[in-house]
Amino acid sequence: MNKAIIKNKIQVNGFISITASFEGDVITNKDLGGYVKWVDSISETKRTVSISKVDETDSTMTLDFVDHGREGKMATWARDCKIGDEFQFMGPGPAANISLNGDDYYFLGDRTAFPAIRVQLERLLQSQSKANLYIGLEGSKEEIQHYFSKYISLPNTHLLSMNESDDQMVFVNLFEEFFNDTSSEKILWCAAERNKVLPMRKLVKEIQSELVDKYISSYWQNGLKDEEHKKNKKLDSAI
Ligand SMILES: Cc1cc2nc3c(=O)[nH]c(=O)nc-3n(C[C@H](O)[C@H](O)[C@H](O)COP(=O)(O)OP(=O)(O)OC[C@H]3O[C@@H](n4cnc5c(N)ncnc54)[C@H](O)[C@@H]3O)c2cc1C
Repeated sequence: MNKAIIKNKIQVNGFISITASFEGDVITNKDLGGYVKWVDSISETKRTVSISKVDETDSTMTLDFVDHGREGKMATWARDCKIGDEFQFMGPGPAANISLNGDDYYFLGDRTAFPAIRVQLERLLQSQSKANLYIGLEGSKEEIQHYFSKYISLPNTHLLSMNESDDQMVFVNLFEEFFNDTSSEKILWCAAERNKVLPMRKLVKEIQSELVDKYISSYWQNGLKDEEHKKNKKLDSAI
């Protein structure tokens, strides 16, 4: 188990962004976009959160927690914690880094996936990729603008318009206008609420031979605590 101390906390546009220091080199730049398991100090309940930023010079990482307004242990802790508080974490776990050799990239996700998606966009930018970036994000205009301002104005970036909605087909509907076109090397990255990821998973099973690379994962499930979501998620690997 690792320990971290909160150095900064910013609550803005639906996120609680916490920068925390850790001992030694337990987290390094190569862990960007990977994840840690935040651990509740009393119940030892574990929750997954992406590593949004790393600063090796002062041994800090930034974790961006969605302020989802429900009673979850991690969200409640993130709302209540203060600068100087200590917390425990496990990990890091690896980033879902996709190939840098595609023509067209499709990033689909909700706010829980914003940190990981931003890391993938930065990797592509750093690689001087000229690929087209199609981005479908579930969140308010302000949240998207705040989080992705550096990327959405790039000439090769296309922000797909999407309203926050309960429609489970929301990502499939966004992607369907593209997947019939076989003229480009396509790469898909999709992570969000489980019921919205499941139809994508089914679609991807049908068309996976047309994708050069893919990452598809459910990050949480509406109405369920993470331990319950994880049981369901295990079943999805059979799809
Ligand atoms: C690889 C990976 C990376 C992730 N990265 C991040 C990240 O960077 N930031 C982040 O905030 N989350 C991230 N998540 C998702 C996060 O682990 C879950 O949202 C988790 O369930 C939150 O825990 P909790 O204790 O707040 O709520 P839980 O106790 O798990 O759930 C309590 C209630 O809140 C609801 N709930 C949980 N999450 C949300 C949500 N996002 N929106 C609306 N309702 C919700 C549940 O459905 C339930 O009704 C990631 C998950 C994975 C697998």
